[in-house]
Amino acid sequence: AAIALAVGLAGCAGQTAAPGGNGGEPAAEDLTVGVAMPTETSERWINDGKAVKDQLEEAGYGVDLQYANDDIPTQQQQIEQMITKGADILIVASIDGTALASQLQTAADKGIPVIAYDRLINGTENVDFYVTFDNYTVGVQQATSLLQGLGYLDADGKETGLADKKVIELFAGSPDDNNTGFFFQGAMDTLKPYLDDGRLTVGSGQTSMDQVATLRWDGATAQKRMEDLLTSTYGGGSGQLDGVLAPYDGISRGIITALQNAGYGENIEAGLPVVSGQDAEIASVKLINDGVQFATIFKDTRKLATQAVEAASAYAEGGEPEANDTETYDNGKKVVPSFLLESDIVVKDNITSLLVDSGYWTEDEVAAGV
Ligand code: BGC
Repeated sequence: AAIALAVGLAGCAGQTAAPGGNGGEPAAEDLTVGVAMPTETSERWINDGKAVKDQLEEAGYGVDLQYANDDIPTQQQQIEQMITKGADILIVASIDGTALASQLQTAADKGIPVIAYDRLINGTENVDFYVTFDNYTVGVQQATSLLQGLGYLDADGKETGLADKKVIELFAGSPDDNNTGFFFQGAMDTLKPYLDDGRLTVGSGQTSMDQVATLRWDGATAQKRMEDLLTSTYGGGSGQLDGVLAPYDGISRGIITALQNAGYGENIEAGLPVVSGQDAEIASVKLINDGVQFATIFKDTRKLATQAVEAASAYAEGGEPEANDTETYDNGKKVVPSFLLESDIVVKDNITSLLVDSGYWTEDEVAAGV
């Protein structure tokens, strides 16, 4: 495959690649990378797109960056157009991880390497590499932060010995996103001992993926489900509810709005349940700083962009990117070689050290929430 890819690339740039990929590789300036991103409604994808584009351009590539408005046919069309317009390499953060097989077949036929970005693309042989975070561990971290907020674990993740019985609800992400199952599994494995010994109860009893999933990661959908749960299970807002597992900051904020509207209090100190998150979106970082949302998971999109650009460069040079995981991500057709990055739990106390000191957000942005 490596040779076919190298030939495909060189062919696009009007050069001939020697078998084995050495010599005659096109220079970055001759190459265009198509970058397909899911949506601009979530800040993380705006940051991802910008970081990937900036870093590719810095390395000398032409970039065709497209956002698909969370609409599957739009993303399919955008990828087709990228191929038609002569993209040499594709970087794809899919909306529905199973909906791109036909587009990626076209890419493969033209020798275009495909790098799955953050979300695995399923059901096709034509995914060459995957750059992402350790998604199972992200789920472990989400549940860990919830257990910390509830008082069962300390800041180092050690058991505190608290024996109180607490009530939680569970939310998961979009069922068509391959990451969703990894996050939820990591979280549930972490909550299991507490659910098993009765310290934790899921008030509504809703624990299966089809009950807790949130299509398109939509915050309004999550808010509505939380409102429905409050009506069906919590007397409209008077019942005991201590925490909510939320898989993404946009969902967290929808849940928090529902809880505040139902009278649980404006912040955690005033009785608002502990809510987890993901992505360190600025609106949520402010809420964490203000004691409203308990935690988020920081995934440094700049580092993910760097990995994607390195993978693209490896293909451009006729080689293969270096994987650090070749077992986990089976897409139904093959195990896709992957590069996994680490993530961190952010709570009020480490906003400065993790997010401000690293230049991800400024102190003013944290204070303003924009
Ligand atoms: C990403 C998360 C993000 C979610 C919603 C997932 O695939 O890994 O970082 O919160 O999509 O956009």
